[in-house]
Amino acid sequence: MPEIELGLALQQRWLAVRQALDRACHAAGRLPREVDLLPVSKTFGADHVAAGQALGWTRFGENRVQEIRDKQAVLGAAAPTWVLIGHLQSNKARQAAALIGEWQSLDRLELAQRMDGYLQQARRSIDVLVQVHTAAEAQKHGVPAEQLETLLRGLSRLPALRVQGLMTVATQTDDLAEIRRCFATLRQAREQAQQQLGQPLPRLSMGMSGDFTQAIAEGSTEVRIGSALFGPRPPLHA
Ligand SMILES: *Cc1c(COP(=O)(O)O)cnc(C)c1O
Repeated sequence: MPEIELGLALQQRWLAVRQALDRACHAAGRLPREVDLLPVSKTFGADHVAAGQALGWTRFGENRVQEIRDKQAVLGAAAPTWVLIGHLQSNKARQAAALIGEWQSLDRLELAQRMDGYLQQARRSIDVLVQVHTAAEAQKHGVPAEQLETLLRGLSRLPALRVQGLMTVATQTDDLAEIRRCFATLRQAREQAQQQLGQPLPRLSMGMSGDFTQAIAEGSTEVRIGSALFGPRPPLHA
């Protein structure tokens, strides 16, 4: 797609998404500025990222380290802040530490310790969110809510990881009540953890293109939006 058309298409979808987010905020009695938008550029090329940057977006969600590497290679010094939102394999931790500015899918202490070590070597620290498993599907990643306190206590000893809050992916279903239950579970996990640890966890990353209304109603501070902004993805990568 020619650059200018891509930019226009992106801008139009962005306006529509922002309006839908604002409506969801209004319905929930919240202010639009309370909910940030994280564009998710996975499966879309570096040209899409550049077009988003031209609209002023500075952070982009990605779920694979290799894909971040490829886009980083194209964008070079002009690359944005990469936010890792997908499952991280142990053998990719070193690469991830060199590339990402934020990690939202942290769910294992052992992997966090590795990442912390690499970041300390590089004299860098990053914001992290702990991914909590709230979905009905067994295969979804994330720490079970019952193990969150233990994980957070372990993370408090890792200086290069700044824990800012929690993230979740809801059950993939059309059942709105089930989706909302997932987001309520994350909000409750946050409240409990804040009490247990006496540490603020201000950020709740929850809600995607198909379920952000429910997430905003349950207190999301950040929605991760891919297809509603960039267009449909091949089903393989959904
Ligand atoms: C792909 C993905 C998103 C965005 O999904 P859309 O439905 O395209 O908005 C959000 N969060 C995670 C963890 C993802 O993998």
